[in-house]
Amino acid sequence: MPNSPQPITITPDWKVELSRSVTTINELLGSLNLSAAELSTSQQAVADFPLRVPRPFLARMQPNNPQDPLLLQVLPVMAEQTEVEGYSPDPLDEASHNPIAGIVHKYANRLLLVVSPACAINCRYCFRRHFPYQENRQSREQWQDALDYIRNATEINEVIYSGGDPLAANDHFLAWLTEQIAEIKHIKRLRIHTRLPVVIPSRIDPAFLAWATATRLKPIVVLHINHANEIDNEVSASIKRLQDCGIKVLNQSVLLRGINDSAACLAELSEKLFDCDVMPYYLHLFDPVAGASHFDIEDSHAKKIYADLQAILPGFLVPKLVREIPNKKSKTTIAPE
Ligand SMILES: *Cc1c(COP(=O)(O)O)cnc(C)c1O
Ligand code: SF4
Repeated sequence: MPNSPQPITITPDWKVELSRSVTTINELLGSLNLSAAELSTSQQAVADFPLRVPRPFLARMQPNNPQDPLLLQVLPVMAEQTEVEGYSPDPLDEASHNPIAGIVHKYANRLLLVVSPACAINCRYCFRRHFPYQENRQSREQWQDALDYIRNATEINEVIYSGGDPLAANDHFLAWLTEQIAEIKHIKRLRIHTRLPVVIPSRIDPAFLAWATATRLKPIVVLHINHANEIDNEVSASIKRLQDCGIKVLNQSVLLRGINDSAACLAELSEKLFDCDVMPYYLHLFDPVAGASHFDIEDSHAKKIYADLQAILPGFLVPKLVREIPNKKSKTTIAPE
């Protein structure tokens, strides 16, 4: 049963877990004892951007709760079809910063590698939901161009594995890619932006830890957790496996209407992260991506929530409130009201 307490068992193979993901509205709602009639679900939305929910994430949703903050992150709804002015397929203008397939280079000393087109979970608010991943799908030979680009970009000292979700790629490939990057002298750090340890905690397995710790590059993992309910014992155990190998773990969230849009909710998340020795890094203002305007929050409201958050947390547990503004040299921090 979805919400019964889960004993800590031997973790299943993450690829098996991934293949068992829920992909239909019926199964998702059925397992939570909810009906499509009470939620404005949409099959058209599924056709536009598939439904995908790993079972460990589903297990953390509350049955009988149509407002569950984990459910609302993944449920395809009618509002996605509403066209709203100002919401575009590529709100961050990544297309113009994609110098060669697989690279997004916007900031001076660091760049993103689109390591895997796939994600383990499809978040409805995702700003990459329209990303041309097919054009960025690469074979090892094609990765040579990306590696040459990094070799020639001597101002870069940090490579960020991104996606999609980079940890949806297999460890054999990731180990190879990381070895190639470690041979480039000016690269010091390897950052991995991933939601996989959250949605399928068994992803942090010996094969992953082997390559992530064998490299001379200093590894950092930035998780993506939006709500305290996403963290259960399996997630904290997977975070601990990372930390026990000396990997620093940070978290970033997106401020989302109906999911985490209150100071109390965000404070609970920060406290729970700290219990796991994870430092809150960024709280992103929503990127205006087409099909997800229903998650957006007015700037003035966001600033109010943030000011309230600052009033109830120590400074080190307050993530930086940022927005991605196309063509800026870094994220832009937003001052509270
Ligand atoms: C967010 C982002 C980074 C990382 O920025 P930090 O502020 O260092 O976390 C790098 N490249 C791109 C294209 C980004 O969007
Ligand atoms: S890139 Fe991140 S936010 Fe977007 S669907 Fe994948 S896991 Fe979710």
